[in-house]
Parts: sequence; structure tokens; C-alpha cells
Amino acid sequence: MSIVRVALDIPLPRLFDYLAPDSTESDIGLRVTVPFGRGSKVGVIVACLVSSEQPVDKLKAVTEILRDMPPLPPEWLALCEFCARYYQTPLGEVTSFALPPMLRRGKLPRRSKAVAVSPAPTFPTLPDLLPEQAAAVAAITGAQGFHTFLLHGITGSGKTEVYLRAIAAVLEQGGQALMLVPEIALTPQLEGRVAARFPGTRIVSAHSGIADAARARGFLDAMEGRADIVLGTRLSVFLPLPRLRLIVVDEEHDASFKQQDGLRYSARDVAIWRAHQNDVPIVLGSATPSLETFHHAASGRYGLLELTERAVAEAPPVVRVIDTRREKLQDGMSAGLLAALGQRLERGEQSLVFLNRRGYAPVLACPPCGWISHCQRCAANLVVHLADRRLRCHHCGFETPIPRACPDCGNIDLQPFGRGTQRLEATLTERFPEARILRVDRDSASTPGKWQALLDTIHKGEADILVGTQMLSKGHDFPMLTLVGVVGADAALFAADFRAPERLFAQLMQVGGRSGRAELPGEVLIQTEYPDHPLYRALVDHDYSGFARSQLDERRIAGFPPFSFQAMLRAEAREMSQSLEFLAAARTLAEAMLKTAADERVMLYDPVPMRMQRLMTLERGQLLVESQSRPALQGFLAAWMDQIYSLKMPAGLRWHLDVDPLEF
Ligand code: ADP
Ligand code: ZN
Ligand code: ZN
Repeated sequence: MSIVRVALDIPLPRLFDYLAPDSTESDIGLRVTVPFGRGSKVGVIVACLVSSEQPVDKLKAVTEILRDMPPLPPEWLALCEFCARYYQTPLGEVTSFALPPMLRRGKLPRRSKAVAVSPAPTFPTLPDLLPEQAAAVAAITGAQGFHTFLLHGITGSGKTEVYLRAIAAVLEQGGQALMLVPEIALTPQLEGRVAARFPGTRIVSAHSGIADAARARGFLDAMEGRADIVLGTRLSVFLPLPRLRLIVVDEEHDASFKQQDGLRYSARDVAIWRAHQNDVPIVLGSATPSLETFHHAASGRYGLLELTERAVAEAPPVVRVIDTRREKLQDGMSAGLLAALGQRLERGEQSLVFLNRRGYAPVLACPPCGWISHCQRCAANLVVHLADRRLRCHHCGFETPIPRACPDCGNIDLQPFGRGTQRLEATLTERFPEARILRVDRDSASTPGKWQALLDTIHKGEADILVGTQMLSKGHDFPMLTLVGVVGADAALFAADFRAPERLFAQLMQVGGRSGRAELPGEVLIQTEYPDHPLYRALVDHDYSGFARSQLDERRIAGFPPFSFQAMLRAEAREMSQSLEFLAAARTLAEAMLKTAADERVMLYDPVPMRMQRLMTLERGQLLVESQSRPALQGFLAAWMDQIYSLKMPAGLRWHLDVDPLEF
């Protein structure tokens, strides 16, 4: 009797057995259609058995084993199994996520006649590597098997050049390379640069913006060994690569490598596991590495490769703080910043004013009665968008026209409070009527087309002052930009999340790095009421390592990651009490387990409401679990999840576990 065990996309931690009379071991890794409930589903065969724990007469037969595609390789299944285990997610959910949507549905793209090959050979002359670059390339290409490297170097220090040389060495030996980048939509020039460097190679790009059929074809090209280089966002870590010889993770600190729903994986961490599985080197590159990565490099677990100079001769931007404590600001801007903007205008250079808050103002208020614009569905304020006269919730998307009068008292003199990019844009337009001002945020760049148009305008020099959010901070060269002004950054200094300073530092360093990239020197002016704050001092001194070390000292004392490992159980329900009761019940189970296992190395916190208590009308709570030992935490989580699945749940309650959570 032949039975196949199938991973199905069902939110239960189990696999499903079906009869398949003509199946053999060689069917493992094939997709299969099976009857399920009243319908049918497509899954992946993960095992071939002669008997099942379930009575054979209860088993249904498969509908069809899909043999039109070669089986997914064992390494791919092992990768999915690792993710299922580590992130406590049912295997069927992982395999389903790891497949492109078309293959997941049991379909197959029409074959491309020929794989797209990058354009005709135009062998460019390569620059001579700087000594530090050469040393980095030598270390990577000389690595015997698995080794993790941190390539630490500021923007413009030539990290990409190092990746490309290491990739070239891999291609020469007939290997495949995988390169992960934070957001491919923001880095089309990287794709161009890779294609130009490797004429005649087959490059597959993988991200969610690619059409279904092309994505499925890319997956098959990678899996069947036709692709040489895979370049993509976090999801490309799941593309099978039979001749994988090198993995690169660019901007490894970037939060977008961690998925925040469904399979809550960190593509960087999965990539490291995969490098280990394939026994190949992996390079993590960043100007501001995550503290986890920096810690491993400092302690010698990762190889540290440093690029301390800029590759193109030019000084890094001068960073200064503007003390705003004793100054009367003019619409949120200091005299110093206004003067610097005026100077750039006179010289015909570009400036950027960075404010990481979009909209006109964060809230609309009625001062006489105290009414404020509040989202009906979330514990959040509705943001004033004056450009289209609407109030919007940035969390759930709810929107409504700006009311003419206070809904509570009828007062018609409603006041916007605080400042967003639209208001800054308005202020600057008033101050510098002759300047061409361009706002760049998720509202003005709402589609890839609009975003590209904005970039073109900037590159053609058709804008004098840019007002923008962090959208502008990633991976773009603006040769005419010589001034970056930072406003409204102080709030992040005192945020409740212990990772907030790390993020702020990276963000400001990144946005500062946009200035002065050509012959013109750059200047960064940070407006602050805390000019002596160590974070700003470190930025002024260009001292990432000093900042990182002091942050790590704080984390060590507090017992935060990387000195501990965490998992967060979250629940959401109609009522906060339901969420918290569920979490309390889960905690009680955990306490009992920990008592019997005598494992005191796992620490349980109390269930508490999340900082954003209410989202889309659901009340949310969380329970943090922590341990100094990753294996201890992993062992505990596996046993705990088994029990949680058997808990009685009130109707409408949903929960999930987030392993190595980044958001608190
Ligand atoms: P990063 O990735 O660290 O920002 P890049 O690799 O993009 O840095 O290098 C920045 C610029 O310097 C690019 O224009 C690149 O072509 C150039 N560059 C890199 N290495 C060298 C080198 N050894 N000699 C001359 N130019 C270089
Ligand atoms: Zn809302
Ligand atoms: Zn009122």
C-alpha cells in the first residue's frame, strides 16, 4: 500500500496522509492535488510511506500527482522544515509561502523559449581594488565552506564592488550566487549594474512586484540550474539553487528582511542557515550593521571585513547639530537651517529636509472642547492630509473628509497640531517662493511610476529642495545634493522600543550619506533639543562602532538581544479581556511545563496590551518569552505550541507566535 504525506496550507501543525497507489519515493517534492473538506487543495509531498497512523480505510486518495515539474529538491524541503521548526509555523504554510503563487496553485508557467540573458558583452574596465577591498574579496573567495562575514563600510566605500568581485569568482567556477537586497523596487540601478558587469549571464530577479508567470519561471530557472544569479528581496531566500556557492545580504540591518505577518521569518537569518546547509560563505554588508551582527563580528564568530575609506576620493559629509532649545523656531525650522537652505539655493545645489512623518499634521484638534481626530478602529489619531483634504489613519487606512466643524461642539476653528511633510512643504514654499520644492513620501510616490518620475526630476536637477521621509534614504545617489537637514528626530530618542536608537542611527547615517556624493562636499544639520545626546555625538564623529559598543553595553546590562533570545505570543480579539485571558491561559500552561521540566532558563513576562492596543477594531495583547539560551527557548516553544493549539479559544480570537520579534 502506498501512502503519501502531504504538506497543506492549513493553520494546523500537522501533515496529511493520502492514498496514492502508484507513488514512489521519487515523488517526494512533487506537488499534488488532494480532496480536502468539500473542495480540493494543492500541497507538496514530503514523504512516501507504507503505512499511516490513521486507519487506511479512513484515508482518501490523491486526485493527481503533478509530474509536469521536477520534484522540489531535498535541500529545499529541508529549508522549509527548518523554518517550520524555528518559527513554529506549520510546514504546509511554509512550503506554500516559499513557492511562487502560480506553482502554489498547481499551475505551471509556459516555458520561456530562451532564458533572458543580460545584454551583449561590453566588458567594462574594472577599477583597481583598494587594499581593504582586495583583502575583503580575498577573504570571501578564500573561505573554505561555510563562513559568515560582516562587510562593514560606509555608503560609497565600495561594498557593492566587493560583492561583484566575489560573485564573479563564483560564476567562473560554474556556481550560482544569491544576492538579497531590502527593496528591489528602490534599487533598479543595482539590477542594471549587475547585468552590465556580467554580460551573458542569466540573472533572475525575485520580488513581489513581478508578474505571476515570470516569478514562477524565475523559480524554475533557479531550481533547474539555468539561472546564474538570483537578485531579490527577502522572499528570494526560498529559491532553490542546486549550485549555490555564495550568498550576499546587502543592507543586512534593514527591517524589511523580517516579515511581519504569516511566516514571520528573518531572511537574513534564514540565509545564514542556508549558507551553513550548503557549506558556502555568506557576506552581510552594511554601513550600520544590526547590533546582533556587529556583536558576532566583534566576538569573532563572524569574520569582520572593514572598508574605512570612500572608494571615490571625497570626504564624508560634515555632520553638525543645531541646538534648538534657546531659539524661537520659525515654523519648526531654525535660523541656521534656513540660512543653509538659502545658501544652497544661491549656489544652485540641492537640499533635502528629512522628516519621517507624512501628512500635514499628525492630529486635528478642537482646543475649546478638547476633541481630537481619533480613528474609530484603532488606538491612533487620524492624520491631517491637507493635499486632498482628508483625515487618514496610517495604521488601518480608514479615511474621511476633514470636518468643517468640531463633531462635538460645532466650533469651526479646528487646529492641526504638529508637523508632517506636507506642512513642511507648505512652510518652505512660503519661505522660498523662488525654489522648486518636491515632496517625496509614500503619498507622493504612491506607485512605482510616480516614484520613478520623482527620481527623474531629482536627477535632472529640476528640484531645489526635497522634503522627504525615509523613502529617500535608501540607495540613491543624488549628485547635486549637498545639504541634508534633519527635523523632528528627537522623539525616537525616547521611544519605548529598545531598538529605536539603533534604527534612528542607521536612518540618519543613511540619509546623511545621500549628500555630497559627487565633487561637492556634503553637510548634514540635525535640529535637536538634545545636542549632547551620545547618539548625535556619534553621528557627528562618524563613529558607528563607538555607538554600537555603548548600545551593546546597555543591552548586556538589561539582558536584551543579542544577549538573550525572545519570542512574542500575540493575540487579538473583540475585547482586550479575551486577548489577555488567552495569553494568561497560555502563560499558565507554560508555567506548568517549566516547573516539570525544571528549566528555569526560560523566563515568562506578564500578558500586557500591545502599545498599539487597538487595530482595525481588534484589541491586542502580547506575552514575551525570553531565554539566555537559544536551544532552551526553541525546545520550550515547540512543546508550548503543542499545548496552545489544544487550548479552547473564544470565537474570533486570533493568535500568532513571533520568534526573534523586531517590533514591540
Ligand atoms: P557601496 O556599495 O559601499 O555604497 P560602491 O561599491 O557602490 O559602494 O562604490 C561606490 C562608487 O565607487 C561606485 O561608483 C563604484 O563604481 C566606485 N568604486 C568602487 N570601488 C572602486 C575602486 N576600487 N576604485 C574606483 N572606484 C571604485
Ligand atoms: Zn485606524
Ligand atoms: Zn469641539
